[in-house]
Amino acid sequence: MAAFGSVFMPKMALATFENNQWSKASIVTSDSIQLHPGAHVLHYSSTCFEGLKAFRHADGSVHVFRMDQNIKRLAQSSRLLSLPEIDEAAVSKMIVDVVGEFASDVPEPPGSLYIRPTHIGTEANVGKAAGATATSMLYVLLSPVGDYFTGGAKALRLLLDETGIRCAPHMGMIKSGGNYASALGPIKKASEEVKADQILFCPNGDVQETGAANFLLIDGNEIITKGLDTSFLHGVTRSSILTLAADLGMTVTERDLTVAELLERAAKPEVEAVLSGTAAVLTSVGTFIHNDKEYQVGSGQPGPMADKLRQALNNIQWGKAEDTHNWLTKVC
Ligand SMILES: *Cc1c(COP(=O)(O)O)cnc(C)c1O
Repeated sequence: MAAFGSVFMPKMALATFENNQWSKASIVTSDSIQLHPGAHVLHYSSTCFEGLKAFRHADGSVHVFRMDQNIKRLAQSSRLLSLPEIDEAAVSKMIVDVVGEFASDVPEPPGSLYIRPTHIGTEANVGKAAGATATSMLYVLLSPVGDYFTGGAKALRLLLDETGIRCAPHMGMIKSGGNYASALGPIKKASEEVKADQILFCPNGDVQETGAANFLLIDGNEIITKGLDTSFLHGVTRSSILTLAADLGMTVTERDLTVAELLERAAKPEVEAVLSGTAAVLTSVGTFIHNDKEYQVGSGQPGPMADKLRQALNNIQWGKAEDTHNWLTKVC
């Protein structure tokens, strides 16, 4: 299977906001949109997106995971970027309709259909550097994805960065394009200089998240991660893993974590560190790099707790365990 996110279904769902109202959504070819070169998004980055997945169960039915949470977050991102208010029920119908159209293309587990709702400011007006776009476009693009772990999971090397920040502090909870572009320079530098896979942004010692994933520390029966504040992206996977950890009898601790505490705990052989996100669910961290020193995290390898939690989540997504939290929306 091609690299994650590089293959698209030929059609997508599309709605536009003009004259203060949303159009009826329609299913159009995925390459059919036109943008004026002066579109607000192309100059002033009025853009946000979501990432969620649809899964095929053994009986052939297709289910979207935690769609309500992703739509709520898209609404929040849109609001914080002064994009037009989205119609959450309409977006939910767009997702269900377009996934339904391509239901037979949803890969079998461990594959899935990745869903990418995107909301962009389209007003052609380069004079609006300090003004909101009056028009916008919302589309739901689909991309079939395979097993993220083909070739075997490898524990990541993370650079702990205490001086840089991932994005402007008031942009932390917004899933918006500019945030990723702004982290690219530091990530490239970390890759070249210390062969880091990712940067864990820890401004002034406060452990936050990487460029596109949340961070969780597992110490025996306790799972520790930063409590929700406006500085970072509130991952749906993070929240799902914490819920499942509690179901499994683990102690869930949401609080600030410092780099000093992280390095101290990492030395324990049973400790695991993981990144969470929709694409890979949980990815293990094997090494921290801090002030030119390397610290092995626990065994340095993907650990059993990460496996157990990932499996618990996959079992619900794949229909192998009861959906006790009502996380699945059946499409067909
Ligand atoms: C998308 C994203 C996450 C993970 O969110 P999920 O809802 O779990 O996919 C975490 N951090 C950042 C910066 C992200 O963009």
